[in-house]
Amino acid sequence: MVSKGKFRLVVAALIAVVAVSVSFDAAAQLRVVTTTTDLRCIAESVGGDLITATSIGTGREDVHMLAAKPSFMVQANRADLWIRMGLELEIGFEPLVLEGARNPEIHVGRRGHLDASHGVVLRDVPTVPVDRSMGDVHPMGNPHYHLDPYNGRIMARNIRDRLIDLDPANADAYRRNYDAFCAQIDRAMFGDAVVAALSADRLWEASSADTLDGLLDREGLEPDGWYAMLLPHRGVKMVTYHRSWGYFAGRFGLEILDELEPKPGIPPTSRHLARLAARMEALEVPLILMEPFYSRRAPDLLAERTGAVVLEVGNMVESEPAAKDYISMMDNIVRRVAAALDTAVHSDHDNN
Ligand SMILES: [Zn+2]
Repeated sequence: MVSKGKFRLVVAALIAVVAVSVSFDAAAQLRVVTTTTDLRCIAESVGGDLITATSIGTGREDVHMLAAKPSFMVQANRADLWIRMGLELEIGFEPLVLEGARNPEIHVGRRGHLDASHGVVLRDVPTVPVDRSMGDVHPMGNPHYHLDPYNGRIMARNIRDRLIDLDPANADAYRRNYDAFCAQIDRAMFGDAVVAALSADRLWEASSADTLDGLLDREGLEPDGWYAMLLPHRGVKMVTYHRSWGYFAGRFGLEILDELEPKPGIPPTSRHLARLAARMEALEVPLILMEPFYSRRAPDLLAERTGAVVLEVGNMVESEPAAKDYISMMDNIVRRVAAALDTAVHSDHDNN
C-alpha cells in the first residue's frame, strides 16, 4: 500500500519531470513556419540546429494560386515564427491561415511574424493606382525578389535579426550561421579567388552599379562563378512566361522584352502571342524562360514561330531535383540559362 505522503511525492516528481521536459522542449528549438521552400531553406541555414522549420508551399506550385488549407493552420498554430515573402505574394492564403491558426503571436505586426522583403530594392512598383484591369499586378512591387542572389543575403539577414530577437541567448550562433551562408552565396556568385581578394560589400556594390568588370580588371582578377557564366550573354533579350524573372535578369545584365502573359496572372492570348512573335523575330530574341508549372502550349507555339529556345526551369527550392537548397537552386538556374543561351546563339549561327 502506498502511503498518502509517498503518493504526493511521486505526483510532485512527475509534475516536475513534465515541467522540465516542456520547458526544455520550448527552449530547445524555435518552431519556424515559412510560406515558401526558399524561406524554409534560408531559415534552416541561419537557424541550424536551434530551429525546426517547415514550409506551406512545396516549391512545385504557383504560390500565387495557393489556397488556405486546414493543414496550413495546424502548422501555423504551433509556430513561434511565421515568415512570408510579402509584397502580397501570399495574399491568397495568408490572412485565412493566420486567422484560422489561433496563434496571435504570429499575426502581422507581432514578433512572431516576419516579412522577409524588408530592405529589398524593389522592382515594378506601380507608378499609377492599381486596379483589376491591370491583371494580377502587385501594388507594393514585384514579389519574386528571391531570384537575385543578393536578395538571398537580405532574406537571411532579416531572419537572423528576428531569430536573435526571439532567442537572444543564441545570438552568436545565428550570426555565425548567417556569415557562413552569405560567404557561400558570395563564393558561388564571384568565385573563391575574387572573394578572397575583395570584400563582399565592394563586389555586390560594383555588381549593382554594373562596374564589376572594370573593378576586376584593375585588380588583375578573372571573372568567375555565376557572374562569369552569364557574362558572355549580357544585354541578351529574352521573354518570360510570368513577370517573375526581373530581379534575376537585372542582377545578371539580361533584358526581358516582355511576358507571354499579356498581364500578370492572365493566360496568354493568341492576339498577344502574335504581336510578341513579330517583336521577337525582329529583335532575334533567343530564349523563352518559364516555370515548370505553366503549360508548354503557348511557349512551344512561340518557339516554333520564332526559332527561340524554350527553357523550363524551377525557380524555387525543391521545384526540381537539382534545386536542393537555395544555392543549388540558383546554381541550376544560372547554369541552365547560360547553356540554353549558348545553344540558342549557336543554332542561330547554323541557320545563317
Ligand atoms: Zn507574380
